[in-house]
Amino acid sequence: MRPTRIVLPTPFGVGPVNAYIYALDPVTVIDPGPLYPPAQAAFEQGLRQAGVGIGDIRQVVVTHHHPDHAGYAPALAERSGAVLRIHPEAAERTASPRGDEEASEDLLRRHGVPEEILIAMRRELSRIVSFMAPLGAFTPLAEGGLLEAGGELVKALVLPGHAPGHLCLQAESYVLGGDLLIDGMTPNPIFEVGPKGRRPSLQEYRTSLERVRTLPVVPWLPGHRGDVACPIGLIDSYEAQMSRRQEEVCRLLAAEPKSAFALSQELFPMARGADPFLAISETLGQLDALRAAGRVVEDAAGRCVLFRAS
Ligand SMILES: [Zn+2]
Repeated sequence: MRPTRIVLPTPFGVGPVNAYIYALDPVTVIDPGPLYPPAQAAFEQGLRQAGVGIGDIRQVVVTHHHPDHAGYAPALAERSGAVLRIHPEAAERTASPRGDEEASEDLLRRHGVPEEILIAMRRELSRIVSFMAPLGAFTPLAEGGLLEAGGELVKALVLPGHAPGHLCLQAESYVLGGDLLIDGMTPNPIFEVGPKGRRPSLQEYRTSLERVRTLPVVPWLPGHRGDVACPIGLIDSYEAQMSRRQEEVCRLLAAEPKSAFALSQELFPMARGADPFLAISETLGQLDALRAAGRVVEDAAGRCVLFRAS
């Protein structure tokens, strides 16, 4: 049985987020949304409509650690006595939501991000983190892990790129997809610095998309907006958009070498409302792909890393 979707408001630019609930025993909630009172009110109304009380919830499952999906999860698990199921990498990021901030800022500085933008990014990170409850007890959910939900066993698939340890839940006739595939929106390969340095988020994301092509074709129930009826068609459109963007990066670099930040501002100008952090995340991802393809060269000798077309 498919879960019921509950659409929750968020305080983020992405707009509403989808929580899912299985009213069948064991009552299970997927991605209960941000720690944000209007979202909790909508969530509780959705539970009532599904004929379920908070105390009936047995499992709270999180697809990824971003607060629009997972912010309320630890608090809900504690309130209801449910088990929190989360991927270990997502748990690590929930436990330490600011990550290694110093390493991240150093790297962003090296890529040309000016101090005033770093200050604005820090402020925005504080705002984002304020919608996350602290992580308490949890049971890890990793690749191939099975969950009983909706009268069947659903399987956890690890499909990273948008977030480390991003999970999708595969049932017989649908997939709960988190933020891997969203209709009319390309999920951002978010800039992440781990113990081994910056993660190749866009490359991880593309590998995840290739894996989806090998799965049975079923509708995807996403973390935002409506069902994705044709996942392969959406992946094709993502790939086409990424190729177009790569050509644009090469064209911009053909004129002169540029820092990733300067390039991101030509691709996604702040003046037109783009978020500078998401813009540089996407730009670094494109540069990684172009470097891997031998089309762009990195010059890291100076104070600021520059990229040029090769
Ligand atoms: Zn999201």
